[in-house]
Amino acid sequence: MRALTQDLPSDAPGRVHRLGALGFGAPGARPKAYLQAGLHADEMPGPLIVHHLSRLLAAAEAEGRLIGEVILVPLANPIGFGQWVQNKPQGRQDLNSMLNFNRDFPDLAELCGDDLAGQLGPDPAQNREIILAAFAAALHDLPAPDEGTALRRALMLFSYDADHVLDLHCDHHAILHLYTSPAHPTQTRHLAQSMGAELALLAEVSGGNAFDEAHSAPWHLLAQRFGAAKPVPPGPFAATLEYRGQFDVSDAQAASDAANLMTYLAGAGVIQGPCEPAHPAPLVYPLAGAAEITASQGGIVTWTVPPGTPVTRGQIIGHVTDPVSGARTATCAPIDGLLFRQELWRQCLRGQSLAHVAGPVPIRSGNLLSD
Ligand SMILES: [Zn+2]
Repeated sequence: MRALTQDLPSDAPGRVHRLGALGFGAPGARPKAYLQAGLHADEMPGPLIVHHLSRLLAAAEAEGRLIGEVILVPLANPIGFGQWVQNKPQGRQDLNSMLNFNRDFPDLAELCGDDLAGQLGPDPAQNREIILAAFAAALHDLPAPDEGTALRRALMLFSYDADHVLDLHCDHHAILHLYTSPAHPTQTRHLAQSMGAELALLAEVSGGNAFDEAHSAPWHLLAQRFGAAKPVPPGPFAATLEYRGQFDVSDAQAASDAANLMTYLAGAGVIQGPCEPAHPAPLVYPLAGAAEITASQGGIVTWTVPPGTPVTRGQIIGHVTDPVSGARTATCAPIDGLLFRQELWRQCLRGQSLAHVAGPVPIRSGNLLSD
């Protein structure tokens, strides 16, 4: 295990944000897996899982079971972790710019596409190396005028050439689920069955350039641009893993989740070890099929069923109660599908989001991610 600490350029005199990373295996060994957690710095299931995973990987390395290279960033957002307002952590948006920390990663297809036009040829393996070199140069040259941009660049310099990119998040109240592109169905199934995810939500490009898509989408977009004459191979397997809800944090759960990620890494050929997933196949639905439920009035939020419940359209799944007027409205499932997440707070304003139901039929287009 080696420490790969990096200080971000400072925006304020006397203040330096330090990004800690850990490397396992020989630098440059393949396959390369990159895992980070806490990019949304108020989501702590992931950082605790990565903490436990680092112990397991150190043991595997000591036993000579590392085949490829693994990079872990246990707390990917030291800026956000320090943002507390009135005794509450505010780690999702940068309080300086109000940008979501998991949006607006560099668009490598846009940055490199024109330069690559004259370099690519008929050999996809050779094209892969040319593209990776172009991505590295683009990231090194990328201006980072503030700490938020510098953080995004620093993370991608660790990860842009990985074969597996896993970004560990959590939801508010939710079942274990994941987001990825449709590019790698076998890896998706293996990951979901290793980690125990009940649901995989797929989108080729969901908008906003979140961290996982900043790795997968450029290869898809470049392949579309250059076509068969200059074949661009599939990009890395990149996924956002949602480890249940914000308060689902325990050492026992994290240790189990870390062991499951070792199963994934073994199946991916990164380490030697047991690689048979213990969990059943997930539901695989389009992200465009996920329906949002919003509040028709403000009040107190109550639920009659928890996340993980299969629901039918029109089924009452909760209520919003105005304790002043006494008005009480039913919260109903908008589609047939799986209720997979609910909002954190037990109170709401009219129009606010309350929950999502995943379904098999696309019902949305455009930007598919929430703020
Ligand atoms: Zn998140």
